[in-house]
Amino acid sequence: MIRVEHIGIAVKDLEQAEATYARLLGEGPYKREEVPSEGVVTSFFQVGPNKIELLESTTSDGPIARAIARRGEGIHHIAFEVADIRSEMARLKAEGFTLLSEEPKHGADNKLVCFIHPRSANGVLVELCQEVQ
Ligand code: ZN
Repeated sequence: MIRVEHIGIAVKDLEQAEATYARLLGEGPYKREEVPSEGVVTSFFQVGPNKIELLESTTSDGPIARAIARRGEGIHHIAFEVADIRSEMARLKAEGFTLLSEEPKHGADNKLVCFIHPRSANGVLVELCQEVQ
């Protein structure tokens, strides 16, 4: 694992949350991106070497909509940057972690991603991400 790459925050209203986080961080988002395969629209803020990812659901039954229905808005996942996502996936699987996909998927912000089930990590949804060259 290289570093915490970003923290994902589930929000109900991206416009409102973008304005709030722009005021909080003193700078607006550098990118907004829809990820149709995940049913989300995302907004990214740079904070030093790390990022904040705001996620709004584009569907009524997607993962972000379900998370907000269960727990309300708030921190949704922590993403760790890795150099080689396939070898990290194999290592974590061998360590007994439950991966949510067998293969990396194309996520937001030009990344290959894979999620680890929260029950494997003390209630935290963990994302592995590798920059696509
Ligand atoms: Zn993320």
